[in-house]
Amino acid sequence: MQSKIKTEMILPIVAYGDTVLRKKGDPIAKTYPNLDELIENMFETMYAASGIGLAAPQVGLPIRLFLVDATPFAEDEDISPEEQEQFKGFKHTFINAQILEEEGDEWVFNEGCLSIPDIREDVFRKPMIKIQYQDENFDTHIKTFDGIIARIIQHEYDHIEGILFTDKLSPLKRRLIKGKLANISKGKINVDYKMRFPALKKKR
Ligand SMILES: [Zn+2]
Repeated sequence: MQSKIKTEMILPIVAYGDTVLRKKGDPIAKTYPNLDELIENMFETMYAASGIGLAAPQVGLPIRLFLVDATPFAEDEDISPEEQEQFKGFKHTFINAQILEEEGDEWVFNEGCLSIPDIREDVFRKPMIKIQYQDENFDTHIKTFDGIIARIIQHEYDHIEGILFTDKLSPLKRRLIKGKLANISKGKINVDYKMRFPALKKKR
């Protein structure tokens, strides 16, 4: 008899320039095909790329689904024990999320994105969010988050709205990274995880 075979699969992460990253995600129902498997595969994919968040459009699916695992932040020695505790095991699936409120004075945090490797930039966002979402069992939650957890959620939420963190940069900053972004689309980048590049998809 065979033991249970590990079926998780690492999916290619869609690179900057792919139109799927610009679509507003559709809501999904419990009946969405192979949803449990998709969520498992997305977690595997995210861990393989050392990510802390991953949204469905980044694996080519324009649907309202993203995941977050803030555990790596718990190892940061510069934060308080309470914060470390908050990050530890913060592993959640967000389905059909809607941000209901965003509040407070914008603060800056250096963001990166698995679809935009090798580019990190300071991004301003509000510190507090109230969000409604369904978990992997389709139970509905309304929760408030702040600080880095809110930040990760805001970044992933933007993905299901077709927005990328580079959209939030000043026109000057955007001009400065334009060439780098074009190279990412063409696959002219060293990356140690599996990716799919839009400019290489076209037939000759
Ligand atoms: Zn991202």
